[in-house]
Amino acid sequence: MPFDLIVVTFGFSLLTPNVYRVNVNLDRTSSGFCIGVQGTIYEAEEKLREKGRLFSFGDVVHNEVEVKRLEDLGLVTVDEAGFKELKNAEVLIRAHGEPPSTYRIAKENNLTVTDTTCPVVSRLQRTTRMLFELGYQIIIYGKQTHPEVIGINGQCNNQAVIIKHADLSYPEEIAGLDLTKKSALISQTTMDVPGFYELKKNLEKLFAEALSLEATPWMAIRDIDITADITGVRPMPTLVFKDTICRQVSSRNQKLHDFSLANEVVIFVAGKKSSNGQVLYNICKDANPRTFFIEDIDEFQESWISNSDGNLVENVGVCGATSTPMWHLEKVALHIEQFAQKNSSH
Ligand code: SF4
Repeated sequence: MPFDLIVVTFGFSLLTPNVYRVNVNLDRTSSGFCIGVQGTIYEAEEKLREKGRLFSFGDVVHNEVEVKRLEDLGLVTVDEAGFKELKNAEVLIRAHGEPPSTYRIAKENNLTVTDTTCPVVSRLQRTTRMLFELGYQIIIYGKQTHPEVIGINGQCNNQAVIIKHADLSYPEEIAGLDLTKKSALISQTTMDVPGFYELKKNLEKLFAEALSLEATPWMAIRDIDITADITGVRPMPTLVFKDTICRQVSSRNQKLHDFSLANEVVIFVAGKKSSNGQVLYNICKDANPRTFFIEDIDEFQESWISNSDGNLVENVGVCGATSTPMWHLEKVALHIEQFAQKNSSH
């Protein structure tokens, strides 16, 4: 089995040869902090050790238990209003990144910035700036209010068209689209890959219909030589896309799918605000309908790991999002393990 196992054996009797086992399988290969979040937490802890106090603009990670742990070490989370009022302080920019206006305010207020924007997000921000400067209308597959999307939109003067529903079923999301303009489709890093390509297909159709043309696939930016446009050799294509979904997230999809199939019950642990948590939870739930989402152990229901005959299941999987700390997954696994042991003695 490809996953690390915590195995609980209970219910052993000399009179009956049955050995009842509950395997609590903790997924260490495709759950837990991604590299971007690890970088942020590492920097935050280092600063807190040095200074004892650090301000974070927004939740340092979309996981309340981890935020609480860092707040106990001296981290102070501020919202937008609180950030604008801060002066002469140390402030952390988290992995999601920020729009240019945040850096302007930090400079005006004499804030020392610890910038932990994830390199994947930095690259996406740079791509957005470049495309915008080349005259493209920016279309983002993402969630309007997600901090990363706010940061990306800031790179194009807040003029991006942001679409969350790949089937274009929300007319208000596409009301601002100029179908005659050269356009570039990109994505929030934590959106789902199939949704991105569904949106691309629907946009290809929409733009083609508006221009009375036959729908043709948009060009991938990686296949375009920008210098050809800059040097005047050949103009850039008018409709382009870049799949900017983070593979730290999407590469986990198949593994979590398989992990969910391999367990009778899956306990998925993540913060309710975690976008990536929602995507990965849905993947687990699709693979195994007996998947349950919890933010913390108090939401766990013991009945979830019982079969209809009242017996406990044999395999319980514990997994989570890129924003779920491994220590927390271990805590949840241990709790289930202890419950199983306790239950066996009755
Ligand atoms: S999910 Fe990807 S883009 Fe987002 S913080 Fe993690 S590594 Fe960076």
